[in-house]
Amino acid sequence: MNINLTQNKNFKLFKLISEVAEKNDQTVFIVGGYVRDLLMKRKTPTDIDFVTESNGMSLAKSIASEIQPSPTVTIFKNYGTAMFKFQGLDLEFVGARKESYAEDSRKPSVETGTLDDDQKRRDFTINSLAISLNKENFGDLIDPFDGVLDIKKKILRTPLEPSQTYSDDPLRMMRAIRFASTLNFTIEEDSLKAIKQEVDRVKIVSMERIMVEFNKIMLSEKPSVGLKLMEETGILDLVMPELTALKGIEEVDGQTHKDNFWHTLEVVDNISKHTENLWLRWAALLHDVGKAPTKKFLDGSGWTFHGHEFLGSKMVKSLFYRLKLPLGNDMKYVQKLVKLSSRPIALIDDGTSDSALRRLLFDAGEDLEDLFILNKADITTKNSSKQAKFKKNFEYVASKIKEVEEKDQVRNFQPPISGEEIMELFNLKPGREIGILKEKVKEAILEGEIGNDKDEARNFVIKEGETLGLILA
Ligand code: ATP
Ligand code: MG
Repeated sequence: MNINLTQNKNFKLFKLISEVAEKNDQTVFIVGGYVRDLLMKRKTPTDIDFVTESNGMSLAKSIASEIQPSPTVTIFKNYGTAMFKFQGLDLEFVGARKESYAEDSRKPSVETGTLDDDQKRRDFTINSLAISLNKENFGDLIDPFDGVLDIKKKILRTPLEPSQTYSDDPLRMMRAIRFASTLNFTIEEDSLKAIKQEVDRVKIVSMERIMVEFNKIMLSEKPSVGLKLMEETGILDLVMPELTALKGIEEVDGQTHKDNFWHTLEVVDNISKHTENLWLRWAALLHDVGKAPTKKFLDGSGWTFHGHEFLGSKMVKSLFYRLKLPLGNDMKYVQKLVKLSSRPIALIDDGTSDSALRRLLFDAGEDLEDLFILNKADITTKNSSKQAKFKKNFEYVASKIKEVEEKDQVRNFQPPISGEEIMELFNLKPGREIGILKEKVKEAILEGEIGNDKDEARNFVIKEGETLGLILA
């Protein structure tokens, strides 16, 4: 098959690369993800990989020197690759290689090879496609492993024997599951078997690399595809046993609880229809994580998960730490949503008093809308009348919260009286009384004792200050 590249957006670039390679007496081919996505008519590319059967670094340099102004070429000596940026694309050049692997490492020892050797060492047939940029067969598709057919059949298959392929570099297991989730492909049966068999090898992959793939799964249209495969192959058990601990239904005295693992996957899929925010999707993934360790059957009340939100939000921290995920604001945001995840719904049972609504507004702050998105996604009952009832209850709480917010504006709470003003009132130096009084003002506003108002707050502080024994200046 020949791919007509003349209409391609990067035709001029391909032509230039072809000419420079010819002049240098080198071969050159486009390989990997770019070719796959081109044939699948998928997304606009961010990177293009080229392979040459001789030195990739010298090819990159000669090409870069033909471009005005010449881009800087970055060399990765260890990998024998070179890259430069061109019109927003990362262009990567590599010499064709032949690899062999040691037991204890994902890093192969590498020898120079032919295009065919290079295609064999790639992870999947759909990723081992190459397009020739050489003069004699410009545009020819080189597909030794029937990758095109696999694209049609939507399957992920390894070019060589699957067990060996996955055992050599177990990151490929995560890549298989990631591609299954993002492309909506099926992992071919022998591959799936091999992954299950070699699953323990995942332990030699760094957590950072696992998480790069995991986050791509989380950002796919239906993350449950990847999450289910991770569960089925045993990878999830190795990486996040806190999640698989949610699996299962227990029965005591004829009473059961829902399977919180499968419920979680549904919540993640639901939320993914409404947000591209990776961390909000993570909040959905972890919203019930505290349920396994808090589960109890109590006579009279049945199955309970008391305090699961609080424990869950603590578990977020240890999980993020272990998974080498960022520990700053993103983690705090996930913690906050997990902690608050049941609050809006609890309001329905406990009554929507203004003070409870104000407290929720105060605690959720700017993340209130995201909390609502999570709450809506959390409704997974199949019973349509129940579903309608939950939705209605929820809309009610949401509208009540809006009313309170308009009235009291505690969402992005700014104290109506500052520390300096309090110090001036009583002629005080900085000290613990200031903090105490500020906290009392906040509490009084949230409880509805005073409005969120400067004068009311001032009068309140004078009264409270006097009970603390302070004297007005
Ligand atoms: P993406 O759309 O995420 O960029 P990609 O297939 O281009 O997908 P890259 O990580 O950019 O993925 O890798 C480029 C190519 O390198 C792949 O298409 C594949 O041929 C090869 N490759 C990447 N990682 C591996 C691996 N672990 N084992 C074998 N081949 C790999
Ligand atoms: Mg790529």
